Amino acid sequence: MTSTHSSRRARSVALLGVAAGAAACAGAPVVLNQFGNPLRHSPAPTAPEISVADLKTRLYLFADDSMQGRQYGRLGNMKGTEYIARELQRLGVEPAGENGTYFQEMPVVQRRFAATSALSADGRALRWVDDWIATPGPKPRDINGVAIVFGGTTGDTANMISAADAAGKLVVMLPPAAGGGAGGFGAIAATNQRLAGAAGVATVNLDGVTRTARAFVNDDPSGVLVASASELSPGATEAQLAAERAGPPPAQLRLTRAGAEALLGAGLDGLRPGASGPTASAHLDHIETPVRKYARNVVGIIRGSDPKLAGTYVALGAHPDHVGYTRSPADHDSLKLYNDARLAVQMKGGDLHAATAEELAAIRINLDSVRKLRPPRPDSIRNGADDDGSGSMALLEIAEAVSAMKVKPRRSLLFAWNNGEEAGLLGSAWYTMHPTVPRDSIVAQINIDMIGRGRKDDLPGGGDDYLAVVGSNRLSSELGREVVAVNLRQPAPFRLDYRFDTTTAWPGYNNIYGRSDHANYARFGIPIVFFFTGLHGDYHQLTDEPQYIDYPHYARITQYIADLVVDLANRERRPALDRRP
Ligand SMILES: [Zn+2]
Repeated sequence: MTSTHSSRRARSVALLGVAAGAAACAGAPVVLNQFGNPLRHSPAPTAPEISVADLKTRLYLFADDSMQGRQYGRLGNMKGTEYIARELQRLGVEPAGENGTYFQEMPVVQRRFAATSALSADGRALRWVDDWIATPGPKPRDINGVAIVFGGTTGDTANMISAADAAGKLVVMLPPAAGGGAGGFGAIAATNQRLAGAAGVATVNLDGVTRTARAFVNDDPSGVLVASASELSPGATEAQLAAERAGPPPAQLRLTRAGAEALLGAGLDGLRPGASGPTASAHLDHIETPVRKYARNVVGIIRGSDPKLAGTYVALGAHPDHVGYTRSPADHDSLKLYNDARLAVQMKGGDLHAATAEELAAIRINLDSVRKLRPPRPDSIRNGADDDGSGSMALLEIAEAVSAMKVKPRRSLLFAWNNGEEAGLLGSAWYTMHPTVPRDSIVAQINIDMIGRGRKDDLPGGGDDYLAVVGSNRLSSELGREVVAVNLRQPAPFRLDYRFDTTTAWPGYNNIYGRSDHANYARFGIPIVFFFTGLHGDYHQLTDEPQYIDYPHYARITQYIADLVVDLANRERRPALDRRP
């Protein structure tokens, strides 16, 4: 591994870029980055062959800023699934969603409180946003003529009021002590448990939040939740199910310090837990909007050619969603250079370690050369080009290649874009709970999530021939052997990396097996294999853009997966299960 200094200097020079001959738009030279990719790319008609050109056309479209980061439950997500469905139709792939469409909608709602919500203490009204807001969630309990009480500090279970004293009241809580242990997940959960019987919990944590941000809490559609946890029973945690059975939860409110003192009718300084205040009444204007179109799986089938086997399926999966946009834009170039520098620090010494505060503080970004090339570019879109634009578009490219085959594979191919992956594997949980083909007719599932990077600067061991494989031997060693055999038949076989089959100490790489959609297929005893080229400095960042994808590597991986899928679909016997999940 070369040292960070030289590579950073090399990198900023490379950013100078070269003026390519082809004019993007009349007269304007197309500037290519250090990977030979432009910032914007003009789409071209695609062809049956799996190619760099097609993948570029698709990915620059699917991960364009106009897709707004394709967040589950938002408009951008619908634009993404629309594009996939239009392409499937164009390719003649059979719809396999609901009602003859490509779509399988999920019962997802957007929940928020309208600005017409009101809160008062002994008739003295507090001001929405200026003094308080309500946090989006399931419809809460009423707050009608209930006593207000000061509860103490969140997480400080030793000193806060008892559950009995909190029951049926509006409890005002201070936020967890900064940096203290009291803020840990366990302490917060213990606080929620203690206050589960309250009519509402109002936390004093609005002062550090701008007015815009306060208003955004209820205007930000990311407050999207599945209609009810039990509808996703296998994916829902026991706590979620228990909470649902318990009926409406306490209202969750947020207050400024002034709002809290108005509510309590007393100063907070020196106030002891249990100090009671006036009587509260609230009208919480809860709005629930179904956003099923913004949260739908996309499913298509290429029917098999062998009547004996066409009723069985080799499934391919990817997730069309990503994590949306940020409220405040950042300068793209500085963030990119910083993310690259941070990863270089983490990869010092050949392994991957969490960067220390000192190492991070020592990072210096040199923008001069970039500024000579272009002005700052404010960026607020998390494009998700690699995550998981690369998998989603690889599926389309494979569908196009197989659609063009004169003789289709013997078994059928089931293409499923499992939505809501970033929101907790929701779409694959829903699809495997409500499959549109008999679940036991799925002989294997090939899941693809992030196959567009994997360079040597992205992770230790990365390179042109790098590919990580997860779970291929977990349920069926026959599948595992097939993965190896088809790889060896590639013109340039990949160096298959199995290290994520077991836990690694690498920061950010914990439990890779459980962190993507294949896990929901595997739990039903379907043999799976998961392909990815590793995380990188742009993971879940504004900088995960199409221009940073390694297209030749990506195209070779897509071709390999296409070959594997066709091979599996032509097998006489389905991969045997060695063990149950
Ligand atoms: Zn992903």
